[in-house]
Amino acid sequence: MAELAARQKHFLSDKVSHFTESVIREMTRQAMLYGAINLAQGFPDFPAPAEIKKAAQEAIGADVNQYAITWGAKSLRGAIARQMQSGHGVAVDPEKQVTVCCGSTEAMISTLLAICNAGDEVIIFEPYYENYGPDSILSAAKPRFVKLRPPQESSGEWTFDEGELRAAFQKHTKAIIVNTPNNPTGKVFTRAELELIRDLCVEFDVLAITDEIYEHILYDGTKHISMASLPGMEERTITINGMSKTYSVTGWRVGWAIAPARIADAIRKVHDFLTVGAPAPLQEAGASALSLPESYYAKLAEGYRKRRDRLVPALEQAGFRCFLPRGAYYVMTDISAFGFADDQAFTKYLVSEIGVAAVPGSSFYRDPRDGAQQVRFAFCKRDETLDEAAMRLGKLKRAG
Ligand code: GLN
Repeated sequence: MAELAARQKHFLSDKVSHFTESVIREMTRQAMLYGAINLAQGFPDFPAPAEIKKAAQEAIGADVNQYAITWGAKSLRGAIARQMQSGHGVAVDPEKQVTVCCGSTEAMISTLLAICNAGDEVIIFEPYYENYGPDSILSAAKPRFVKLRPPQESSGEWTFDEGELRAAFQKHTKAIIVNTPNNPTGKVFTRAELELIRDLCVEFDVLAITDEIYEHILYDGTKHISMASLPGMEERTITINGMSKTYSVTGWRVGWAIAPARIADAIRKVHDFLTVGAPAPLQEAGASALSLPESYYAKLAEGYRKRRDRLVPALEQAGFRCFLPRGAYYVMTDISAFGFADDQAFTKYLVSEIGVAAVPGSSFYRDPRDGAQQVRFAFCKRDETLDEAAMRLGKLKRAG
């Protein structure tokens, strides 16, 4: 078997050899293998809203079962444009600027494939959501990382150095990826930070690709500012979002990219040849979802605030140092108290012996050593799940 695999190696693309499998998805498989509580992959273990499920069932019943328009069902694109206008004051032409994709994951890779040439550079804040690394490689771009530094105190904010960010803008920089609210840190970029990024994008003629999938999941009075709403950015921002996190339907695979018309045109072409289109009936359900009242979003955020405040004290009690997230539904932690050689050894022990799956911090960094004492937990789970995890984590022993 091993010999056969070795002989087949030369069939493979060099691109693929430059990245490994997703650690986040691998941890979900490990959780299943060991019967562990899955606080690794960020998907809810509670039901999606009944009205959205009903809309999907009705669409299938009404025979919306063939391809939607390649760049997205008209009803959904209209709803996306209306939401950008009402939520962020950004005027979007649904006929020319919106591309509905198979999840924001496809929206991101389609965007990068549509804009990058070999040798182009893409700036990524680190720690980063692991897909951005392989996304850059697949689109032949070179990632250039800028550090987000953890707060000294657990309630402080992750910050970046202005000089370091400026230095990352180079001759071949094509775009900067900004994920706010941020996975894995929970950082919500402030207006001042976004304006600084905006000024650099304008000065160096660079695009901003903003992953805003957690835009409604905010705590402690933080506000989400959409990059495209900043003066000067509408013409150079690609806004990525989707249904997964806001409507608790990560398996539906409905996401989108909003871009200036000329760029949207290129994204649509890539998307067409990659996947043709996102699931048609689920796009119809998406149009209903995006028409839910404001109260839906307030309830969503409050539900996650409660879950955060349930898990974080339990983690602290167990010996983790937590970096309190201001948005999204993950908490990054420091594991030095347990005396493990690295995050991989720790998460292996956690999933197999303690019965809780988490994501090793190194999978969010280019140099694994940077994340060697960090682990990410997802808290998009039912109270019972979080309580059971807390009980199991209580068995951890601190070193020395
Ligand atoms: N965003 C989720 C996470 O970070 C996972 C998304 C995915 O696996 N496609 O856990």
